[in-house]
Amino acid sequence: MTNLNELAATLRLPVEPIRSPMFIDGKEYTGNSGEFVARKSPGHGVPVTSTVRATVEDLNAAVASARRASDDGRWSRLSGEQRATVLLKAAQLIRDNVETLTYLETLESGKPIGQSRGEIGAAAGIWEYAAGLARVVHGDTHDTLGGDLFGLVVRQPIGVVGIVTPWNFPFFILSERLPFVLAAGCTAVVKPAELTSSTTLKLAALLIEAGLPDGVVNVVTGLGSVVGQALAEHMDVDMISFTGSTPVGRSVLAAAGGNMKKVGLELGGKNPQIVFADADLDDAADAIAFGIAFNAGQCCVSGSRLVVHRSVEQQLVERVKAVLEKVRVGDPLDAANHVGAIVEARQFDKIRGFINAGRRDGAQLVCGGTASNEGERFFIEPTVFRNVQPQSALAQEEIFGPVLSVTPFDTFEEAIQLANGVPYGLAASIWTRDLQGAIKSFREVQAGRIWVNCTITGGPEMPIGGVKQSGIGRETGRYGLEEYTELKSVHIQVGSRPRWIA
Ligand code: NAD
Repeated sequence: MTNLNELAATLRLPVEPIRSPMFIDGKEYTGNSGEFVARKSPGHGVPVTSTVRATVEDLNAAVASARRASDDGRWSRLSGEQRATVLLKAAQLIRDNVETLTYLETLESGKPIGQSRGEIGAAAGIWEYAAGLARVVHGDTHDTLGGDLFGLVVRQPIGVVGIVTPWNFPFFILSERLPFVLAAGCTAVVKPAELTSSTTLKLAALLIEAGLPDGVVNVVTGLGSVVGQALAEHMDVDMISFTGSTPVGRSVLAAAGGNMKKVGLELGGKNPQIVFADADLDDAADAIAFGIAFNAGQCCVSGSRLVVHRSVEQQLVERVKAVLEKVRVGDPLDAANHVGAIVEARQFDKIRGFINAGRRDGAQLVCGGTASNEGERFFIEPTVFRNVQPQSALAQEEIFGPVLSVTPFDTFEEAIQLANGVPYGLAASIWTRDLQGAIKSFREVQAGRIWVNCTITGGPEMPIGGVKQSGIGRETGRYGLEEYTELKSVHIQVGSRPRWIA
């Protein structure tokens, strides 16, 4: 087979699928089913990679490996400095391998090559940030408990963490979790989405090269309903960090009840772009177009609802349309394209179903609406609907595609009501030149992440996560690290303890 580096350098499609085994206890592992499943590139319609469909026995082997590595302290007992050294080396190796990681990510996910390159580079930055945190995991002391008692609050790694990731940002989302898990001193079993596992497997090998002890990170590939479910249920896993859809998140929460493991959930969103009459409409239009078309709208934080003051609705929609008409959709390996493919047939059909429902429900199609699945290559033009009823499927449900619904408002109260009138609370953008209005708005809007006069931006310093049915807990930042720790209160008697019975 042609060398992967060469393929990545020339951006040619592989002649046969690039095969990646699983990774358990520091070694490649094919598993007891030996069943490899090919993944077709959604942008090209040909098989490009192949990964193992694991069994529950394989998952059990991975958990046993992570459990041993956690219990014997081979990672948790290292100093913060030693852990940071490994994480920094991992970041360097990610940078050194950016082209192969980028190539694999684009082949499997269908995202444009330049975008993949940006995500892998940004992910390396998260590993660097988390390396610093490995040296500042600490608790508190309490010298206020009276002369006879001294208190310590010790922060310890939670133990074995199961990480389940989705297909929309395979490497980036993993990098928003795994380096924090490792900085905290935990070990991990990772279950990437079955459509996009190759970059996670490549990362596991890079981590060994970076000096991570065997067994600290294990990767099991295959179906969520089989190995993902078994990971969430597993009695030897101390925490599950799940990123994916709200319905599956609900089943993960139930599965975690067996041993009462801690749960972190990052789920769906139906995120509003709230535009007040005084906003800079050109700025807002560009960001709204980006917010719905970026990653073909397959972002948990896509700005999929435009909630706009009636007085500027017409103008703003025209400007958004003008930007979207310049967006190039097509072959993800062609660097000139802004938007690549929809990840698979099922997702493509789901998005098309919403577009048809919008037409049926009487919403007005402003632009887009066309889709092509010729040759098993899945593309959808960015689509905007006006006059969308707030209670319709288009305005309520997470479409996870490039479909924007527009609903006007007349008063501030109505804007907030519309923004909050969905079961989700992941993210929101607010557009206004009025500082007071911006503050009043972000106080009221129910979301874990707010952007004022910007959208889908940030850094690993900022915590991410949602409220309502968008999730539980936070990832990234020091808050994200703390999620992977447990607190232990230690009470130390100073001098002799006063006797109960004299
Ligand atoms: P999904 O829920 O179908 O799958 C996510 C992961 O869960 C995959 O690895 C899958 O194999 C696994 N899985 C499936 N069934 C499982 C089960 N019963 N038990 C355990 N794991 C199981 O989601 P998806 O289609 O891959 O991703 C899209 C969804 O993810 C969207 O809803 C999106 O909003 C959400 N998402 C959220 C965030 C966030 O940070 N909030 C980020 C990205 C994606």
